Amino acid sequence: MFLHRKLAVVLSLALGTAFLSAQPAAKTDSTRTLVRAGHLLDVKTGKVLDGQTIVVVGDTIQSIAPSASVPTQAGDKVVDLGGLTVLPGLIDVHTHLTMNTDFDPYREVTSTDAKEAIHGVANARTTLMAGITTVRNVGAYGFTDVDLRDAINSGEVPGPHMQVSGPLLGITGGHCDDNLLPIKYHAVGDGVADGIAEVQHKVRENIKYGADLIKICATGGVLSKGDDPQASQYTLEEMQAIVADAHRLGRKVAAHAHGAQGILWATEAGVDSIEHGSYINDEAIAEMKKRGTYLVPTLYLEDWMLENGNLPAFYKQKMIDVSAVAKSNIKHAMQAGVKIAMGTDAAVYPHGLNAHELDVYVNQLGMAPLTALQTATLNAADLMGWTAKTGSLEVGKWADIIAVAKNPVVDVKTLQDVKFVMKGGVVYKNETK
Ligand SMILES: [Zn+2]
Repeated sequence: MFLHRKLAVVLSLALGTAFLSAQPAAKTDSTRTLVRAGHLLDVKTGKVLDGQTIVVVGDTIQSIAPSASVPTQAGDKVVDLGGLTVLPGLIDVHTHLTMNTDFDPYREVTSTDAKEAIHGVANARTTLMAGITTVRNVGAYGFTDVDLRDAINSGEVPGPHMQVSGPLLGITGGHCDDNLLPIKYHAVGDGVADGIAEVQHKVRENIKYGADLIKICATGGVLSKGDDPQASQYTLEEMQAIVADAHRLGRKVAAHAHGAQGILWATEAGVDSIEHGSYINDEAIAEMKKRGTYLVPTLYLEDWMLENGNLPAFYKQKMIDVSAVAKSNIKHAMQAGVKIAMGTDAAVYPHGLNAHELDVYVNQLGMAPLTALQTATLNAADLMGWTAKTGSLEVGKWADIIAVAKNPVVDVKTLQDVKFVMKGGVVYKNETK
């Protein structure tokens, strides 16, 4: 991630049943909810079917059919979305729900796990209300993300489905360490691990305490003191050890990487996604395509920072430098056919603005709107290993359903104003009433 000490989380792999803890408690109620969709968008084809009804039972889609063939029965609940375009809930594969936008160094060093847990409760709700029904949280301190995920799954607080990483793994003095204080304070980031034995231990420890995925820092970052985004941090051998352990234990690996060599090494080591990718070059692009590695650009944050950012000097110049090249490099990677999943780095800017990322892909980088929408649905679900659960509206998947005023394939900005949110069969927002 771009972010520094405040970022780290995990993901629960979709491989098999290893991550029951990351999945919502199933509703057992057999009541049917009929979602009457004026216009139903198929994110696989871009086709819109008018007058469709999605039948929801418990947390799952039971059927989808023309409304005329699904009469309301006694006991049914009905949600009328007659004037809206209905589509699957969006997925953001790079969030930090337990962190808030604030780059005052004193605030950073005085943050606590308790404060971050409280931020997480508020930000999870904000994110869900913005139509993001699933996130991959890639960096948090003190396993606050694990507890947030579990509180959401038990129904204690509202929020998206989460896969969480726990603390980010990184080298001493690197992007994922705590570098703001002098040595007399002995500050060390939760996820700092150097050398093969230490990284193996840290991967196993994160999994022990509830991580669904492993997040690592392959290169320097922007919002961290004293490091260079272009310089590689973990060695190829360290990353190979991380990936071997994580994959053997059923967890995917997300690698923060700006510099080209770090992107290449992380890809060669077998990570599942490259986060940011600002200095990606043709060699890294070729290797990512060969291996099917996802790229998770986080570009809207640059626009937001330019307009609103108030960064200390030791972050600011790096933000200017990276922002000057990232969009053109990412555009090149997109055009070359690297697989893309939408991530935002929300926390670097206020939570809930996630869908602005898709506007950048379409209106600044020239991506087709349907392709952009797929990065936040089908592709994101694939990266998370949750294709069987989410990413499209299909029978047997979670009833994660949103509605917007216009067809997002025609106007992607409509996703910035979501009118209706259902997650797991529960309605959290309905502005049609
Ligand atoms: Zn991040």
